[in-house]
Parts: sequence; C-alpha cells; structure tokens
Amino acid sequence: MICVSIGRTRHHKMIEEHHKLAAEGAELVEYRLDYLGRQPDLQRLLADRPTPIVATCRRPADYGRWRGTEEQRMAILRAAIVDGVDYIDLEDDIAGSVPRYGKTKRIVSHHNFSETPEDIEDVHQRMCRLDADIVKIVTMANTPADIVRVLKLVAQAPVPTVGFCMGEFGMASRILCAKYGAPFTYASFSEDRELAPGQISFRQMKNLYRYDKINAGTKVYAVIGDPIGHSLSPLIHNAAFEHDKLNNIYVPFRIPADALLETLRAFEWLQIQGYSITIPHKEACVEYCDFPDETCQTVGAANTWYRDASQRWRASNTDYDAALATIRQGLAEGSEDVSLQGKTALILGAGGVSRAITHGLLKAGSAVTITNRTNKRGEALAQELGCRHVTWENRGAQTPDILVNCTPIGMFPNMDESPFAPQWLHDGMLVFDTIYNPENTLLLKDARSHNCKTASGLEMFVRQASLQYERFTQREAPMDVMRDALRRGISPIN
Ligand code: NAP
Repeated sequence: MICVSIGRTRHHKMIEEHHKLAAEGAELVEYRLDYLGRQPDLQRLLADRPTPIVATCRRPADYGRWRGTEEQRMAILRAAIVDGVDYIDLEDDIAGSVPRYGKTKRIVSHHNFSETPEDIEDVHQRMCRLDADIVKIVTMANTPADIVRVLKLVAQAPVPTVGFCMGEFGMASRILCAKYGAPFTYASFSEDRELAPGQISFRQMKNLYRYDKINAGTKVYAVIGDPIGHSLSPLIHNAAFEHDKLNNIYVPFRIPADALLETLRAFEWLQIQGYSITIPHKEACVEYCDFPDETCQTVGAANTWYRDASQRWRASNTDYDAALATIRQGLAEGSEDVSLQGKTALILGAGGVSRAITHGLLKAGSAVTITNRTNKRGEALAQELGCRHVTWENRGAQTPDILVNCTPIGMFPNMDESPFAPQWLHDGMLVFDTIYNPENTLLLKDARSHNCKTASGLEMFVRQASLQYERFTQREAPMDVMRDALRRGISPIN
C-alpha cells in the first residue's frame, strides 16, 4: 500500500487533493496538519474521507512546518485520536506520553535528517516497545550502503515496520521496503512537491514502480551511475517487465565512483539479479567482474552485469552490439548491402561511446577515422585503436560511407545545434546520431533532406536495453513496448 502525504495550507485544498488521489487509486493518505495555515479543523477534515487517514503534525526539527507551541501540537494529536482518525503519527520521544485510545492505530516514528546512525538497530528496538501498531524509521542515507542497514531492520522487525532512507542515495529504498515486508511506503501527492528529501510521487510509485505488486518474491534489477536522476532505463525495463507479467522491479541507484566496490558488496544482501551500468562505472565494472565477456575486455567497458545459472556475476557490453546492429539496420534502408567490410567511417567524439563503436567497426573490417573537439584526445584514441585521425576543424573535408555522432552536440535542450554542417553531407551516406533525446536531432533531419540513410540513438538505446533484458530474463525482449516507453519518456520535446 502507498500512503500519499498531502501538505496544503488550506483545508478545502487538502480535502480536494484527497478525493482526487482516492479517484486515482490511493488507499491511504497522510494529512500533514503542520502545513495548514490555521488551526486544524479535524472534524471537517475527517468528515467524508474517501480513504483512511494518517494524521501527522511535524515540528520544524523534523522537517515540519508547525509554528505553534508543543503543548498546542500535543493537544491536536490527542484531539485527532478522540475524533477517531485511522492512524496517528507519534514521534518516538512523545509516543510514551500519548496513550492508546479507541480504534486509532499508532505509528511510532523516528526521523534522522542528517545520517543513518551507528545505533539505528537500538533505536528501532526501543521504538518497538512503545505500544506501536506500526514503527516508522526514516534516516538520511549518506552512502548508498546505508539503505541495506535500514532494509534489514524492516525484514527482521518484530513490529511491522515502515523503514527507508531519505536523500538521493536512499530513493530506491522507498520502493524496495515492500519486498522486505513494510506495511506501506510514503509518496508525495505531486511531482513538484516533495515533502521529504528523495520522495517519489504517488503516480511514479504506482505506475512506474508498481509498488503494490512488489512482494518477497520480487526480483530486483537496477541501474547504477552518478548522476542517475534522469535515467530513462527504469521506464523501459519496468514497462517490459509489466508487459511480460514478470514479478521483477527495476530501480535506480546513485553510486559515486569511489564507493562502487563497497556498495556492490553491501548490495549482495539485496540479491540484485542484474545491473545496467552507466557513467562513471563502466570501466571499473570490467575490472571487478570475474567473468567479463570478450567484448567487455576488448572495449574495456561493461554496461551490464547479470547472474548466470550458478548465480555468478557476468559482465557484458550491450552498447557495442546495439550500436553495430543499429548501423546495419540503417544500411539496410533500401539496400541489400549491410556489410561493414571495406566501408569508411568518420566518428565524431573520442569518449566511451566512440571507443566502443570504433572497436566494433574496426572488427567488422571498416576503415575508421576519429575526430574530436580536443584534438589531442582524438589523436590518442586513434593511435591506441590503430585508426586514422583528422582534426576537428577539418572534419568536413571527409566523405565517409558512415558518419557517427558520439558527442552531445544537438542533445536536448540544444536541439538547434549539429556537429556536422549540412553541406558536408552527401547522397547515400549513412548518418548515425547516438543521441536519443530528441529522437530526431538536427543532424538526422539534415541527413534526410540530403538523401542520406539514417540511424537513431533511440534505436541504439532500445537495443542495448533489450539485449540487457534478454540477459536478465533469458527471454526475448518486447522491443516495441520498450521503444514506446522511451518515446513517452522523452515525448514533450519530440
Ligand atoms: P563522453 O565519454 O563524455 O565523451 C563525450 C565526447 O563528446 C568527447 O569526445 C567530447 O570531446 C565530446 N564533446 C562533448 N561536448 C562537446 C561539444 N560541445 N562540442 C564538441 N564535442 C563535444 O560521453 P559518451 O559516454 O561517449 O557519450 C557520448 C554521447 O553518446 C552522449 O552525448 C549520448 O548522447 C550518446 N549516448 C547514446 C547512447 C545510446 O544508447 N543511444 C548511450 C550512451 C551515450 P572532448 O574530448 O573535447 O571533451
């Protein structure tokens, strides 16, 4: 169950929001009484409630907005109980002085906005003795591994416990607590109104993460990177899991570069079944894996970790296969000749994607030239991989069969930029833009108007995700579902 926190300054707005959420399927809401601009009128708030209510009145020290005295706050909490609210939230330092009464269930809560302290297990044990129907323990995650300690509490709790971490490192624990038996989680009533750091909106919790379907048997998959906030991978993978009716969930974890190894070790307790890997972990994830495949070793980067039948981690690089398949699909446009053997290719950029695609094209027998804004870096990569280099300033003088953009030029929000002037394009050439947001970049639009064949980064992105999905699940990926989900995710600008 998802408990949606509503914080509005006016009573009628609070009630209106509640009815709207109930119509969207909310089963429990938290009224943040401390948000109200004037003295809470409990009878009015409780009168026609469409779902059960949790009454909460937070002090400023607990990230709340209560401006009255502590005596007044206690009086409101007691009144809410007398008026028969379904759940009352009592902080652990006051729970002992508010007796149980009537049918109101007691949520005994503890928040730590600065850390997940060493003695969190002791705090939890003490809370379990405070006549709680539900214990709520929420701490700030300062490292990704902090969530494991809190989720362990949930899993082993003698009293039903809602436990998760706040902040960016803690975000996924708000979802995963369902797997470990939390009676519910908290979500915000609107995408733009976070009532606590790292809170997820009700709509995302319900529709993207399908929280209500998560149970002890749910298999967990994740994308790891830093930053990770805008990753579209959860959208694609969760849509595919839902389509295939698999009891799987896919969540994002922000992991800083220097915390990777310790985090992966701590996360073994979570029994993650597969990882998508993004910047800055792609290189380290080859090194840390005992069984990287040949592509990973050649490219020196992995974007996928998955478990084999013996539960051992294997690493692969589906970016590489996806890019080559996308290029071949582009070449096939109106032609039988999809061979890369003997074709000339110009690669714009010298970063991770450029490296993987250059490796693939060279292996397939193409003659590759690299060009890069920082000429020295382009020259170094060309030398390392044994291909040609031209300066960034002279890139327009090339007439390759295949042009690949591996730079962010033209990416949202700079959609009126292109890394290659239209007059440099020629008939019949394949133009592959690895950018996927937007799907139709200026470069691809120019290419089409110059009778070039085209291949899009959106197709590459969907293919790399579908190849991951196949390794994760040992079944064919629903590529159309994944493509539609990605298009929906970037739709406002397409
Ligand atoms: P990266 O390692 O950071 O490399 C970025 C490259 O772009 C570098 O060569 C950099 O040149 C160049 N660059 C950056 N800003 C530039 C600018 N304003 N003008 C000219 N060159 C510029 O990044 P990456 O991981 O290789 O990713 C590159 C692109 O691939 C991304 O922008 C993304 O759109 C795309 N991508 C697509 C997929 C997919 O599945 N479709 C997946 C991942 C990435 P310097 O050396 O001079 O800094």
